[in-house]
Amino acid sequence: MSAVLPWNDVNLLIVTDVHSWVAGHAHPDHTPLLDADYGYVLSLYEHLSAAAAASGRDVFFLQNGDLNDGTGFSRAPPAALLPLLQHLPFDALTTGNHELYQNTNIDFLAQPGGFIDSWRGSYLTSNTLNATTGQPLGARSRLLVGNASGVRVLAFGFLYDMKNHDDHVIVTRVEDVVREPWFFEALNATDAYDALLFLTHMDFRDSLVDVLHAAARSAVGAAVPIQFVTGHSHIRAYRDLDARAASYEAGHYLDTVGFASFGLSSSSSAAAAFAHLDIDANQASMAAAAGVDGPASLLTAAGAALQSEIKRVGAGLGLDRLLGCSPRAYARKSPLGAADSLWRLFLANITTDTALAGNASRIVMQSTGSLRYDVYPGPVTANDVWTMCAGARYASAGPASAPDVAARPARPGRCPFADRFWRVAPRAPRGTGHLLFRSDDVLDAPSSVLASATRACRPVWTSIDVYNVRTPYSRAL
Ligand SMILES: [Zn+2]
Repeated sequence: MSAVLPWNDVNLLIVTDVHSWVAGHAHPDHTPLLDADYGYVLSLYEHLSAAAAASGRDVFFLQNGDLNDGTGFSRAPPAALLPLLQHLPFDALTTGNHELYQNTNIDFLAQPGGFIDSWRGSYLTSNTLNATTGQPLGARSRLLVGNASGVRVLAFGFLYDMKNHDDHVIVTRVEDVVREPWFFEALNATDAYDALLFLTHMDFRDSLVDVLHAAARSAVGAAVPIQFVTGHSHIRAYRDLDARAASYEAGHYLDTVGFASFGLSSSSSAAAAFAHLDIDANQASMAAAAGVDGPASLLTAAGAALQSEIKRVGAGLGLDRLLGCSPRAYARKSPLGAADSLWRLFLANITTDTALAGNASRIVMQSTGSLRYDVYPGPVTANDVWTMCAGARYASAGPASAPDVAARPARPGRCPFADRFWRVAPRAPRGTGHLLFRSDDVLDAPSSVLASATRACRPVWTSIDVYNVRTPYSRAL
């Protein structure tokens, strides 16, 4: 058994906010390199699971939401992505906000015999309901029982009080759910479980974690260990809630595979010895965590099969297609005045010069959350464009009336940061308006156009400009 990991009575292996980065990171965006894909994650789980069983322990494998919106593997609906995720034998999953922005995605996940059903009660949506039936989209709770240890963990799956979801779901406020009878009935069956586990798609310090913690403590007393698996804010973080409760957030975009553990001391006064380790999604780091000799020994047969499948699916989606070349790096966090500012490039070159082309009747609205990832120098593939601008929900094509466009920035959630554009290029919103820069337009572009951009190996912005403008504007103007 790996000496790297803090094994205890209850052991958890966690991924959160992966946002479809199932193929890992092609660019050197982290030290050490994030060179592990989901094939390696599956392999790590298999090694840990076997090692745990050999010593009478278990490791529960958890997926904490935000499956989609991040790379070219994510489409609406996520028909290509979900079968890849089903290779991983998660013991419990919950939904993030990104699963719920479009009915297309919600319906696909929730269809009879679909992704949620495939988990047979382990997809936990304690406060996310089917808007038609009023019933949970998945299950409200699940008792996880370790095969080797017999450890019993009662698990819930909560989403923060999301308001801007699409209308095929209802997200009940956490503050209200903790007063519902089913919640107390589940908690009150204290003879049936040894610990509580809250998959919570919310920041590790979100006050709703404290709401859940207080409600659980009031029901079960001080003795029961409570682990909160948190996420949403895309960081690595941890806090203690009390001596026997903790909140742990394990990164994002497959930069981290989280390991958390705690003890089940029968003494209610003893601390539960919560521990956690952020395992880099790096082959060598994961091999060390797995307790194997090195990266060459990490990949299992099932992991290798998943890796092949990820490559096959990615190729089928055209994610490796070369769109052009970037002459330099562009970073989304660089200030607007910096030469490597991705936002400056986007605002000054792509929108103002090319998309708007001096035409004051055109406007562009773009969320500042929409540029999600940096651009690296050299060849730029279709997947690089997806990672840079991953969220189709931030954009829509087609005519919009001026009052509608003017109203949008004030609508919470939909386009909350549009002010950035207005500051840079203030234009009166008159005539027709459009939101543009749909990254799927790039992928759907005719191959002849792609070929010309590739042949010239021009800065990729030229090709992006073509595709941005092409679909929405050619239809409406
Ligand atoms: Zn997320």
